[in-house]
Amino acid sequence: MKNLSRITETFSESVIREMTRICDEAGGYNLSQGFPDFESPKAIQEAAIRAISAGYNQYPVTFGEPELRESISRKVRRYNHIECDPATDITVTCGATEAMIATLKALINPGDEIIIFEPFYENYGPDSILSGATPRYVTLYGPEWHYSSEELAAAFNEKTKAIIINTPNNPTGKVFTRAELEEIAGLAIKWDTYAVADEIYEHILYDGVEHISIASLPGMAERTITINSISKTYSVTGWRVGWAIAAPPITKRIRKVHDFFTVGAPTPFQHAAAEAMTYGPEYYEGLKNHYAEARNYILGALRSAGFQCEFPKGAYYVLADASGIMERLGLTDDTAFSRKLIELAGVATVPGSSFYAERTKGSHQVRFCFCKKWETLESVAHALATKLPK
Ligand code: GLN
Repeated sequence: MKNLSRITETFSESVIREMTRICDEAGGYNLSQGFPDFESPKAIQEAAIRAISAGYNQYPVTFGEPELRESISRKVRRYNHIECDPATDITVTCGATEAMIATLKALINPGDEIIIFEPFYENYGPDSILSGATPRYVTLYGPEWHYSSEELAAAFNEKTKAIIINTPNNPTGKVFTRAELEEIAGLAIKWDTYAVADEIYEHILYDGVEHISIASLPGMAERTITINSISKTYSVTGWRVGWAIAAPPITKRIRKVHDFFTVGAPTPFQHAAAEAMTYGPEYYEGLKNHYAEARNYILGALRSAGFQCEFPKGAYYVLADASGIMERLGLTDDTAFSRKLIELAGVATVPGSSFYAERTKGSHQVRFCFCKKWETLESVAHALATKLPK
């Protein structure tokens, strides 16, 4: 048999998704992949059922049903200070995942560089490879997850095509400040670079911090692609409805890629999403408050079990240092430790190395996701307190 493609040899399957499968087989508590184990709002479920009954069961408009594009446009005007024309500036995709790869396919020529803050969401690695981009990493330094302005400036050059900004950030929980985003915007304008903003956790914020969309900063609307989805905000990760917002010349290209990749995101779920996006601020407050309590609870449980970790400012993950426990267990790497944690306590996490290009940088870290119901969090806290060596 002839060789399979070279490009697909160079990356491995997602560790996040693999951990979910391992967890399911072991019957453990899944604190690995970021999805809720509680019900999505009844109203959004009913909207989807109504859409199916009303006959929205065939292909959608390839770049998104008009009702959803209208809804997105109104919501981003209100919450993100982004002006976008539903007719020309929005592409509805199969989740933020497709929005990201379709965007990179629309931007990148082989040899172009993209800047990625590290640690980063696992998908950006294979996304770079599949789009032919050469990644340049800029370190986020814990425990505050700040970057060095000198290192950021040094990462830009004439080959830089885009910078990816994921705020609130997965896996660190960092929420980029206005000053940081202004600095990034200044460099993007100076080097004529696109900004790809993955804002999927925009409503999951703590301690009064504010989410700012880089597209709303002066000079950035025409060079920013803002990516989002209904997955995390409305707890429907399996519906696969996301979008990319960009100026018309960029959107035209993204729409072409999207059309040939997937044709469209599921039609009835687009109609339900259009309705969900009309919910008032109290819905987002409720979501935020729920996760704030879950964050405080899991932090306490992790610290008393011997993990070193800080309160994230946004998103629903804790990237924890497990050095102490690993030492007590005689383990030296995060993958072995993650497997041991499932075996000993039935708790699935994501090995830290999945978030770094140079994998050893994460070899003492694991990521816990806390978008789980109380029952799950309490069982996890109990298991960590009783099953790990002190
Ligand atoms: N963003 C989620 C995580 O980091 C996973 C999303 C996905 O698996 N598509 O766990």
